[in-house]
Amino acid sequence: MLNFTVGPVMSDEAVLSVGAEQVPYFRTQEFSEIMLENEYLIKKFAGAAEDARAVFITGSGTAAMEAAIVNAFTSRDKLLIINGGSFGQRFVELCQIHKIPFSEIRPAFGKGVTADQLQQFSGRGYTALVVNIHETSTGVCYDLDLLSRFCKEENLFFTVDAISAFLADPIDMQKQQIDMMITGSQKALACPPGISVIVLSKRAVDRVYGNDPHCMYLDLRSALRNGDRGQTPFTPAVGILLQINKRLKMIHDAGGAEAEIRKTASIAEDFRSALKENRLPLEIVSQSLSNAVTPLHPLHASAYDIFLTLKDEYQIWVCPNGGDMKEKVFRVGHIGCLTVEDNKTLIDALIDMKNRNLL
Ligand SMILES: *Cc1c(COP(=O)(O)O)cnc(C)c1O
Repeated sequence: MLNFTVGPVMSDEAVLSVGAEQVPYFRTQEFSEIMLENEYLIKKFAGAAEDARAVFITGSGTAAMEAAIVNAFTSRDKLLIINGGSFGQRFVELCQIHKIPFSEIRPAFGKGVTADQLQQFSGRGYTALVVNIHETSTGVCYDLDLLSRFCKEENLFFTVDAISAFLADPIDMQKQQIDMMITGSQKALACPPGISVIVLSKRAVDRVYGNDPHCMYLDLRSALRNGDRGQTPFTPAVGILLQINKRLKMIHDAGGAEAEIRKTASIAEDFRSALKENRLPLEIVSQSLSNAVTPLHPLHASAYDIFLTLKDEYQIWVCPNGGDMKEKVFRVGHIGCLTVEDNKTLIDALIDMKNRNLL
Protein backbone atom coordinates (compact mmCIF):
# COMPACT_ATOMS: atom_id res chain seq x y z
CA MET A 1 0.00 0.00 0.00
CA LEU A 2 1.10 3.51 -0.80
CA ASN A 3 0.21 5.69 2.18
CA PHE A 4 -0.85 9.34 1.71
CA THR A 5 -2.65 9.63 5.06
CA VAL A 6 -1.58 11.95 7.87
CA GLY A 7 -0.56 9.22 10.25
CA PRO A 8 0.59 6.61 10.68
CA VAL A 9 2.69 7.37 7.60
CA MET A 10 5.39 5.43 5.77
CA SER A 11 8.75 5.07 7.51
CA ASP A 12 12.20 4.97 6.01
CA GLU A 13 13.78 1.50 5.54
CA ALA A 14 16.45 2.24 8.15
CA VAL A 15 13.77 3.15 10.70
CA LEU A 16 11.85 -0.02 9.86
CA SER A 17 14.88 -2.21 10.42
CA VAL A 18 15.37 -0.76 13.92
CA GLY A 19 11.77 -1.81 14.59
CA ALA A 20 12.62 -5.40 13.58
CA GLU A 21 15.23 -5.77 16.35
CA GLN A 22 14.75 -7.22 19.85
CA VAL A 23 13.61 -4.57 22.33
CA PRO A 24 16.43 -4.02 24.86
CA TYR A 25 16.18 -3.55 28.63
CA PHE A 26 16.01 0.19 29.26
CA ARG A 27 17.21 1.04 32.79
CA THR A 28 20.73 1.30 31.46
CA GLN A 29 23.30 3.99 30.79
CA GLU A 30 23.14 3.11 27.08
CA PHE A 31 19.40 3.76 26.80
CA SER A 32 19.67 6.94 28.90
CA GLU A 33 22.21 8.29 26.43
CA ILE A 34 19.85 7.61 23.53
CA MET A 35 17.04 9.41 25.37
CA LEU A 36 19.23 12.42 26.13
CA GLU A 37 20.16 12.53 22.45
CA ASN A 38 16.46 12.36 21.52
CA GLU A 39 15.75 15.28 23.84
CA TYR A 40 18.67 17.28 22.43
CA LEU A 41 17.65 16.75 18.79
CA ILE A 42 13.92 17.39 19.33
CA LYS A 43 14.79 20.66 21.13
CA LYS A 44 17.16 21.64 18.36
CA PHE A 45 14.58 20.98 15.61
CA ALA A 46 11.93 22.88 17.59
CA GLY A 47 14.20 25.92 17.99
CA ALA A 48 13.94 25.56 21.78
CA ALA A 49 16.27 27.38 24.17
CA GLU A 50 19.02 25.53 25.99
CA ASP A 51 17.13 25.63 29.28
CA ALA A 52 14.00 24.15 27.66
CA ARG A 53 13.10 20.48 28.20
CA ALA A 54 11.51 17.75 26.13
CA VAL A 55 9.59 14.87 27.70
CA PHE A 56 8.53 11.67 25.97
CA ILE A 57 5.18 10.16 26.85
CA THR A 58 4.10 6.67 25.87
CA GLY A 59 0.67 7.35 24.44
CA SER A 60 -0.62 8.91 21.23
CA GLY A 61 -0.71 12.66 20.66
CA THR A 62 -3.86 13.07 22.73
CA ALA A 63 -1.99 11.82 25.83
CA ALA A 64 0.44 14.72 25.43
CA MET A 65 -2.46 17.14 24.85
CA GLU A 66 -4.07 16.00 28.10
CA ALA A 67 -0.75 16.05 29.97
CA ALA A 68 -0.09 19.60 28.76
CA ILE A 69 -3.52 20.84 29.89
CA VAL A 70 -3.49 19.05 33.25
CA ASN A 71 0.07 19.99 34.19
CA ALA A 72 0.30 23.58 32.97
CA PHE A 73 -3.14 24.92 33.92
CA THR A 74 -5.48 25.12 36.92
CA SER A 75 -8.95 26.48 37.62
CA ARG A 76 -7.29 29.87 38.20
CA ASP A 77 -6.31 30.09 34.51
CA LYS A 78 -8.42 31.47 31.71
CA LEU A 79 -7.60 29.92 28.34
CA LEU A 80 -8.31 31.10 24.85
CA ILE A 81 -8.71 28.05 22.59
CA ILE A 82 -8.76 28.22 18.81
CA ASN A 83 -11.33 25.65 17.82
CA GLY A 84 -11.49 25.19 14.06
CA GLY A 85 -12.03 21.43 13.86
CA SER A 86 -11.91 18.13 15.69
CA PHE A 87 -8.48 18.71 17.27
CA GLY A 88 -9.46 22.16 18.55
CA GLN A 89 -12.61 20.56 19.93
CA ARG A 90 -10.40 18.03 21.76
CA PHE A 91 -8.75 20.86 23.76
CA VAL A 92 -12.22 22.22 24.55
CA GLU A 93 -13.31 18.84 25.91
CA LEU A 94 -10.09 18.41 27.90
CA CYS A 95 -10.68 21.77 29.59
CA GLN A 96 -14.28 20.82 30.34
CA ILE A 97 -13.22 17.50 31.89
CA HIS A 98 -10.47 19.10 33.96
CA LYS A 99 -12.53 22.18 34.87
CA ILE A 100 -10.20 24.75 33.38
CA PRO A 101 -11.97 27.99 32.41
CA PHE A 102 -11.76 28.84 28.71
CA SER A 103 -13.28 30.73 25.80
CA GLU A 104 -13.25 29.64 22.17
CA ILE A 105 -12.49 31.34 18.90
CA ARG A 106 -14.27 29.41 16.17
CA PRO A 107 -12.93 30.26 12.71
CA ALA A 108 -15.14 29.42 9.70
CA PHE A 109 -14.44 26.15 7.87
CA GLY A 110 -11.26 26.37 5.83
CA LYS A 111 -10.35 29.77 7.28
CA GLY A 112 -7.60 30.98 9.58
CA VAL A 113 -7.85 33.36 12.53
CA THR A 114 -7.75 37.11 11.87
CA ALA A 115 -6.15 39.89 13.92
CA ASP A 116 -9.63 41.38 14.41
CA GLN A 117 -10.95 38.13 15.88
CA LEU A 118 -8.01 38.06 18.32
CA GLN A 119 -8.38 41.71 19.33
CA GLN A 120 -11.86 41.02 20.73
CA PHE A 121 -10.13 38.99 23.45
CA SER A 122 -7.50 41.58 24.28
CA GLY A 123 -7.22 42.80 27.89
CA ARG A 124 -9.88 40.42 29.18
CA GLY A 125 -7.83 38.53 31.76
CA TYR A 126 -6.78 35.55 29.66
CA THR A 127 -3.69 33.70 30.89
CA ALA A 128 -2.95 31.39 27.97
CA LEU A 129 -3.65 30.69 24.32
CA VAL A 130 -4.00 27.13 23.06
CA VAL A 131 -3.92 26.24 19.37
CA ASN A 132 -3.50 23.25 17.06
CA ILE A 133 -1.26 25.20 14.72
CA HIS A 134 -2.16 22.90 11.85
CA GLU A 135 -5.79 21.82 12.41
CA THR A 136 -5.22 18.52 10.62
CA SER A 137 -8.93 17.72 10.35
CA THR A 138 -9.53 20.61 7.95
CA GLY A 139 -5.99 21.21 6.68
CA VAL A 140 -5.95 24.81 7.92
CA CYS A 141 -2.60 26.11 9.13
CA TYR A 142 -3.02 29.15 11.40
CA ASP A 143 -0.73 32.17 11.26
CA LEU A 144 1.86 31.34 13.92
CA ASP A 145 3.48 34.79 13.83
CA LEU A 146 0.14 36.54 14.33
CA LEU A 147 -0.73 34.33 17.31
CA SER A 148 2.77 34.72 18.71
CA ARG A 149 2.56 38.54 18.57
CA PHE A 150 -0.81 38.47 20.31
CA CYS A 151 0.59 36.24 23.07
CA LYS A 152 3.55 38.57 23.57
CA GLU A 153 1.33 41.67 23.75
CA GLU A 154 -1.09 40.03 26.17
CA ASN A 155 1.55 38.05 28.07
CA LEU A 156 -0.23 34.77 27.38
CA PHE A 157 1.30 31.35 28.01
CA PHE A 158 1.52 30.07 24.44
CA THR A 159 0.66 26.38 23.95
CA VAL A 160 0.99 24.93 20.47
CA ASP A 161 -0.18 21.49 19.40
CA ALA A 162 2.19 21.00 16.48
CA ILE A 163 1.55 17.27 16.24
CA SER A 164 1.17 17.35 12.46
CA ALA A 165 3.17 20.54 11.84
CA PHE A 166 6.48 19.74 13.56
CA LEU A 167 9.04 18.96 10.80
CA ALA A 168 6.48 19.87 8.11
CA ASP A 169 6.00 23.61 8.71
CA PRO A 170 8.49 26.10 10.17
CA ILE A 171 8.28 26.41 13.97
CA ASP A 172 10.76 28.21 16.20
CA MET A 173 9.95 28.11 19.90
CA GLN A 174 12.38 30.88 20.79
CA LYS A 175 11.51 33.27 17.99
CA GLN A 176 7.78 32.69 18.39
CA GLN A 177 8.00 32.53 22.20
CA ILE A 178 6.17 29.23 22.40
CA ASP A 179 5.95 27.87 25.95
CA MET A 180 4.79 24.35 25.18
CA MET A 181 4.99 22.53 21.88
CA ILE A 182 3.41 19.12 21.42
CA THR A 183 4.20 16.55 18.76
CA GLY A 184 3.76 12.82 18.12
CA SER A 185 5.69 9.93 16.60
CA GLN A 186 3.34 8.99 13.74
CA LYS A 187 3.12 12.27 11.83
CA ALA A 188 6.14 13.96 10.21
CA LEU A 189 8.46 12.08 12.58
CA ALA A 190 7.37 9.11 10.45
CA CYS A 191 7.71 6.44 13.13
CA PRO A 192 5.03 4.07 14.46
CA PRO A 193 2.33 5.60 16.68
CA GLY A 194 2.75 5.34 20.45
CA ILE A 195 5.04 8.16 21.56
CA SER A 196 4.13 11.80 22.04
CA VAL A 197 6.47 14.61 22.97
CA ILE A 198 6.08 17.87 24.87
CA VAL A 199 8.79 20.51 24.59
CA LEU A 200 8.63 22.94 27.51
CA SER A 201 10.22 26.37 27.77
CA LYS A 202 11.82 27.31 31.12
CA ARG A 203 8.63 29.20 31.93
CA ALA A 204 6.61 26.04 31.25
CA VAL A 205 8.94 23.87 33.36
CA ASP A 206 8.51 26.31 36.28
CA ARG A 207 4.73 26.26 35.81
CA VAL A 208 4.67 22.46 35.85
CA TYR A 209 6.78 22.20 39.03
CA GLY A 210 4.49 24.73 40.70
CA ASN A 211 1.37 22.65 39.98
CA ASP A 212 -0.09 19.58 41.68
CA PRO A 213 -2.06 17.64 39.05
CA HIS A 214 -4.45 14.85 40.06
CA CYS A 215 -2.86 12.11 37.99
CA MET A 216 0.04 9.72 38.11
CA TYR A 217 0.85 8.50 34.60
CA LEU A 218 0.73 11.95 33.03
CA ASP A 219 2.39 13.84 35.92
CA LEU A 220 5.05 15.82 34.07
CA ARG A 221 7.01 16.58 37.26
CA SER A 222 8.13 12.96 37.45
CA ALA A 223 8.69 12.89 33.67
CA LEU A 224 10.96 15.94 34.01
CA ARG A 225 12.80 14.59 37.04
CA ASN A 226 13.41 11.19 35.42
CA GLY A 227 14.27 12.88 32.15
CA ASP A 228 17.15 14.71 33.85
CA ARG A 229 19.05 11.42 33.69
CA GLY A 230 17.58 10.22 30.38
CA GLN A 231 14.91 8.01 31.91
CA THR A 232 11.11 7.84 32.08
CA PRO A 233 8.96 7.16 35.19
CA PHE A 234 7.37 4.02 33.66
CA THR A 235 8.27 1.53 30.93
CA PRO A 236 8.17 3.53 27.71
CA ALA A 237 7.62 2.25 24.16
CA VAL A 238 11.35 1.45 24.05
CA GLY A 239 11.35 0.18 20.46
CA ILE A 240 9.67 3.31 19.10
CA LEU A 241 12.07 5.55 21.03
CA LEU A 242 14.94 3.73 19.33
CA GLN A 243 13.26 4.26 15.94
CA ILE A 244 12.77 7.94 16.78
CA ASN A 245 16.48 8.16 17.62
CA LYS A 246 17.40 6.72 14.22
CA ARG A 247 15.02 9.07 12.44
CA LEU A 248 16.20 12.19 14.32
CA LYS A 249 19.84 11.41 13.54
CA MET A 250 18.98 10.88 9.86
CA ILE A 251 17.22 14.27 9.73
CA HIS A 252 20.21 15.85 11.45
CA ASP A 253 22.66 14.32 8.96
CA ALA A 254 20.52 15.44 6.01
CA GLY A 255 20.58 19.12 7.03
CA GLY A 256 18.23 19.34 10.01
CA ALA A 257 14.64 20.52 10.36
CA GLU A 258 14.88 23.18 7.63
CA ALA A 259 15.92 20.61 5.02
CA GLU A 260 13.19 18.20 6.11
CA ILE A 261 10.56 20.98 5.92
CA ARG A 262 11.82 22.01 2.46
CA LYS A 263 11.51 18.42 1.27
CA THR A 264 7.92 18.13 2.52
CA ALA A 265 7.05 21.53 1.01
CA SER A 266 8.38 20.46 -2.39
CA ILE A 267 6.36 17.23 -2.34
CA ALA A 268 3.22 19.18 -1.42
CA GLU A 269 3.88 21.73 -4.15
CA ASP A 270 4.51 19.03 -6.74
CA PHE A 271 1.19 17.36 -5.89
CA ARG A 272 -0.79 20.60 -5.92
CA SER A 273 0.58 21.69 -9.28
CA ALA A 274 -0.05 18.23 -10.80
CA LEU A 275 -3.69 18.51 -9.65
CA LYS A 276 -4.02 21.77 -11.59
CA GLU A 277 -2.09 20.63 -14.65
CA ASN A 278 -4.28 17.60 -15.05
CA ARG A 279 -7.47 19.57 -14.40
CA LEU A 280 -8.71 17.08 -11.88
CA PRO A 281 -12.17 17.93 -10.49
CA LEU A 282 -10.84 18.41 -6.97
CA GLU A 283 -10.92 21.74 -5.20
CA ILE A 284 -8.46 22.66 -2.45
CA VAL A 285 -10.67 23.77 0.45
CA SER A 286 -8.32 25.60 2.78
CA GLN A 287 -7.05 29.13 2.24
CA SER A 288 -4.12 28.65 4.55
CA LEU A 289 -2.32 25.41 3.84
CA SER A 290 0.18 23.37 5.82
CA ASN A 291 2.89 21.52 3.93
CA ALA A 292 1.66 18.36 5.66
CA VAL A 293 -1.63 17.88 3.86
CA THR A 294 -3.88 19.00 0.99
CA PRO A 295 -7.61 18.96 1.86
CA LEU A 296 -9.72 18.28 -1.25
CA HIS A 297 -13.38 18.68 -2.12
CA PRO A 298 -14.45 16.50 -5.08
CA LEU A 299 -16.73 18.44 -7.43
CA HIS A 300 -18.73 15.42 -8.62
CA ALA A 301 -18.04 12.27 -6.57
CA SER A 302 -18.37 11.35 -2.89
CA ALA A 303 -15.14 11.92 -0.97
CA TYR A 304 -15.61 8.73 0.99
CA ASP A 305 -16.21 6.67 -2.17
CA ILE A 306 -12.97 8.04 -3.60
CA PHE A 307 -11.14 6.95 -0.45
CA LEU A 308 -12.65 3.43 -0.74
CA THR A 309 -11.91 3.06 -4.46
CA LEU A 310 -8.30 4.21 -4.08
CA LYS A 311 -7.84 1.75 -1.20
CA ASP A 312 -9.55 -1.27 -2.74
CA GLU A 313 -8.68 -0.90 -6.42
CA TYR A 314 -5.42 1.05 -6.49
CA GLN A 315 -3.77 0.05 -3.16
CA ILE A 316 -3.46 3.71 -2.18
CA TRP A 317 -4.52 5.18 1.14
CA VAL A 318 -5.67 8.77 1.32
CA CYS A 319 -7.22 10.19 4.48
CA PRO A 320 -11.03 10.27 4.74
CA ASN A 321 -12.76 12.93 6.83
CA GLY A 322 -15.26 12.22 9.57
CA GLY A 323 -18.57 13.71 10.64
CA ASP A 324 -20.43 15.99 8.28
CA MET A 325 -17.36 16.29 6.02
CA LYS A 326 -17.29 12.57 5.25
CA GLU A 327 -18.82 12.83 1.77
CA LYS A 328 -17.36 16.26 1.00
CA VAL A 329 -13.68 16.23 1.88
CA PHE A 330 -10.72 13.87 1.82
CA ARG A 331 -7.10 14.72 2.50
CA VAL A 332 -3.84 13.85 0.81
CA GLY A 333 -0.87 13.85 3.16
CA HIS A 334 2.68 14.80 2.17
CA ILE A 335 4.54 13.59 5.25
CA GLY A 336 6.43 10.34 5.74
CA CYS A 337 8.69 8.56 3.32
CA LEU A 338 7.06 9.88 0.09
CA THR A 339 8.59 10.95 -3.22
CA VAL A 340 7.42 12.83 -6.32
CA GLU A 341 7.20 9.44 -8.06
CA ASP A 342 4.64 8.42 -5.44
CA ASN A 343 2.70 11.61 -6.24
CA LYS A 344 2.69 10.55 -9.88
CA THR A 345 1.25 7.15 -8.94
CA LEU A 346 -1.60 8.86 -7.06
CA ILE A 347 -2.25 11.41 -9.83
CA ASP A 348 -2.32 8.58 -12.42
CA ALA A 349 -4.85 6.71 -10.28
CA LEU A 350 -7.02 9.83 -10.04
CA ILE A 351 -6.81 10.38 -13.82
CA ASP A 352 -7.81 6.76 -14.34
CA MET A 353 -10.77 7.19 -11.97
CA LYS A 354 -11.81 10.31 -13.85
CA ASN A 355 -11.76 8.32 -17.11
CA ARG A 356 -13.92 5.69 -15.43
CA ASN A 357 -16.37 8.40 -14.30
CA LEU A 358 -15.53 7.70 -10.66
CA LEU A 359 -14.22 11.18 -9.97
C1 LIG B 1 -2.80 13.55 14.95
C2 LIG B 1 -3.08 14.75 15.75
C3 LIG B 1 -3.32 14.69 17.14
C4 LIG B 1 -3.21 13.45 17.97
O1 LIG B 1 -3.97 12.40 17.65
P1 LIG B 1 -3.64 10.96 18.26
O2 LIG B 1 -4.56 10.10 17.47
O3 LIG B 1 -3.95 11.01 19.69
O4 LIG B 1 -2.18 10.71 18.00
C5 LIG B 1 -3.56 15.86 17.81
N1 LIG B 1 -3.56 17.04 17.19
C6 LIG B 1 -3.33 17.15 15.87
C7 LIG B 1 -3.31 18.52 15.27
C8 LIG B 1 -3.08 16.02 15.11
O5 LIG B 1 -2.84 16.14 13.79
